[in-house]
Amino acid sequence: MHRACPCADRQYLIPIGKSRDGKLTHWARPETVRAFEKMNQAARAEGIGLHVIWAFRDPELQRAQFEEAKLKHGPRNGIRWLAPPGFSEHQTGWVLDIGDRDNPQADDNPLFSGTRAFQWLLVNAGRFQFELSFHPENWQGVSYEPWHWRYVGTSEARNAFHPQGLHALMVWRKSFAEALRWWLYPAKS
Ligand SMILES: [Zn+2]
Repeated sequence: MHRACPCADRQYLIPIGKSRDGKLTHWARPETVRAFEKMNQAARAEGIGLHVIWAFRDPELQRAQFEEAKLKHGPRNGIRWLAPPGFSEHQTGWVLDIGDRDNPQADDNPLFSGTRAFQWLLVNAGRFQFELSFHPENWQGVSYEPWHWRYVGTSEARNAFHPQGLHALMVWRKSFAEALRWWLYPAKS
C-alpha cells in the first residue's frame, strides 16, 4: 500500500540533472537538490558517481505509467509496482531514483543493490538526510526499490513521510481507502 503524499508546487522546483541521453531535465525541491549535491560531492571524493534517474514526477505522468503497469503486471498487481496517481512519493519533490554513474545497466532494477553506489549510499546517505523508502519486505508491501531514496532533512518532509498522531491517522485512512478502491475496481482509474 502506498501512502498518500503531498504534491510539490512545480514553480518552486529546480533542475537536479539530466537523463543519461541528455534529453530530459529532472526537477526537485531546492533543499533536495542542495542535499544531493553535497552527497554526490562526498561520493565523488571516494571515486563513486551518483546519477539521478528520476526526481519529481508529475501526477499526470504517474497516471499514464500506472495504467501501463496494470497492463504489464495485471490490474491488481500494478499497485505493487507503481503507486496509483496521487500516491507516488515522486510527486513530493523530495524523492530521487539514484543510479550508479558508471553502471547504467543497473538503473531502475534490482542489479542496483550490487553496485558500489548503492553500498556507499547504505553507509552514507543518512548523513545527508536521505533514507531508503522501500526496504526488502517493507510492511507497506511495496516492491523493494534500492534506487528509491527520499530526503527527510526538513520538518515538512519528515511530516510527509513519517506522519505522527492524528495526521498519521488521516493520511493512512486516505491511503487505505484508495488502495481498497483500486483493489475493488481495478479497471477504473
Ligand atoms: Zn522511485
